[in-house]
Amino acid sequence: MKTLVTNGTVVTASDSYRGDVLIEDGKVSAIGVSLSPDADRTIDASGKYVLPGGIDVHTHLDMPFGGTTSADDFESGTIAAAHGGTTSIVDFAIQYKGQTLRQAWEAWMKKAQGKAAIDYGFHMIITDLPDTVEQEMDAMVAEGVTSFKLFMAYRGVLMLDDGAIFRALSRTGGNGGTICMHAENGDVIEVLVRRALAEGRTAPKYHALTRPARAEAEATYRAICLAEMAGVPVYIVHLSAAEALEKVTEARDRGLPAYAETCPQYLFLSYANYEEPGFEGAKYVMSPPLRAQGNEEKLWRGLSGNDLAAVSTDHCPFCMKEQKELGKNDFSKIPNGAPGIETRMHLMHDGGVRKGRISLNRFVELTSTSPAKIFGLFPRKGTIAPGSDADIVIFDPEKKHTISAKTHHMKVDYNPYEGREVTGRVETVLSRGKVIIESGKFTGKAGAGEFLKRKPRSA
Ligand SMILES: [Zn+2]
Repeated sequence: MKTLVTNGTVVTASDSYRGDVLIEDGKVSAIGVSLSPDADRTIDASGKYVLPGGIDVHTHLDMPFGGTTSADDFESGTIAAAHGGTTSIVDFAIQYKGQTLRQAWEAWMKKAQGKAAIDYGFHMIITDLPDTVEQEMDAMVAEGVTSFKLFMAYRGVLMLDDGAIFRALSRTGGNGGTICMHAENGDVIEVLVRRALAEGRTAPKYHALTRPARAEAEATYRAICLAEMAGVPVYIVHLSAAEALEKVTEARDRGLPAYAETCPQYLFLSYANYEEPGFEGAKYVMSPPLRAQGNEEKLWRGLSGNDLAAVSTDHCPFCMKEQKELGKNDFSKIPNGAPGIETRMHLMHDGGVRKGRISLNRFVELTSTSPAKIFGLFPRKGTIAPGSDADIVIFDPEKKHTISAKTHHMKVDYNPYEGREVTGRVETVLSRGKVIIESGKFTGKAGAGEFLKRKPRSA
C-alpha cells in the first residue's frame, strides 16, 4: 500500500518546504519534489501544511478520581484526539498502594487494548515505594514504560514524601527513566482548604484561592533541588504559574536538565473564569488552577524560548452533570480536571502561530517533536522523515471554525473554550499511513492503536 501526499508545505521542528511525502507500509519512505510513484492513493495537500502528528504526553482516560471516572475512555478519548490532530498519547497508569508496577501497567493496558484508535504509551504513577517497587522501576523501563509520575500533593492518596521522591529520582540515574513531577505543596494546600471550608467558603473559585502560585513555585524548586542532588533530569508537568517558571528558568540558567510542560488552559483561560455565575466555575476546577490574567504572557515567553519544552493537555474530563456536581456544596469535592485532548493543536496554532507568539516550526516542536524526544519516541514519532511512522496531519491554515461542546467529539457536556473561533483546521489525519480522519469524519478503527514501547533516556 503506497500513499502519496502531494503539493503540501511540509513543516517540521526545523524546516518548512514544498514537497511530496511518500508512505509505504505505514512509514515515510521518501520525501522529494515531483515524486511520481505508482501510488495506490494520492492526497492533494495544496495550500495546506503537512505536519507530524501531535503527541500529547499528558492525558487521563478512563481514570478514577474522587469517586467518579474521567468521562472519556480510550475509545472516545483517542478518537477526539485524532479529530484534533493528535496521533499519539502518553497516558498515566496508577499504581495503588500495595500493588506492583506490573499490576498497574497490566490494568491500564486492558483499558486501552481494543479501544485506542491511535498509538499510546504509559507513564507510571507511583504512590507507594517500598524497596521492591523501587527495584521494579528498572523492569518497567525495560518494558517501555520509561517515565514515572510522582505527586507532591494529595497526601494519603497519591503523594510521596521527599525521601521516596529522592529514591525514585536516584533510581532513574541508573535505569534511564524520567521522573515527571506534579509540583504543588500539598500539605499547605490542605490547611488552606480546611480553613476555607470552616469559614463557609464553598464556591468553585475557592479551589483556586486555596492553591496559591507560591505553593507551586516552592514544590517546583524542591523538585528541581531533589533532582539536582540525585544527579538526574526532572520534568515538571502542567506548569501553570509564572512563579514556578522562574524556578525552572533559574535552574536551566545554571545548566541543570530541568524540563517543564504547560497546557493550553493556562495560556487561554484565567482566574476570571472561576468568577462565572452560579456553579459554572466548576468547569475550570483543575490542579494547578488557572492563574491571574497576565500570567499567560510569561508562559508564552517561556514557550518561545525553551524554558517550557512542551505543550500537553492534562485532558481529564468530567461532565458538569453528575460529576462536577459532586462538589456543588463543597469545592474540594469537585473532580479535578478539564477536557482538552481535541483542542490543543487548534488553540496553539491560532493563539500561538497566528498571533505571532511562536513560529510554525516551534508549534510543531512544542506539540510533537520535543515531547517525542523527551519521552523516548523520537525519531519514530515527532517528525516527518524517511523511516519515521507516517503519523501525518494535513492542516488547512486558513479554515475557521468555532469550538463548541455541540460539535466536539469528547464525551463531556461542556467545552472550556465554548464559542471561541479559531483559524486553522485539521483536515486529514494519518496514523501509521492509514487515513483515520477525512474531511472531519473519523474513518479509523477503535483498537487500531498500538502500545508504544518507549526508549530510555540514554538510548
Ligand atoms: Zn494530570
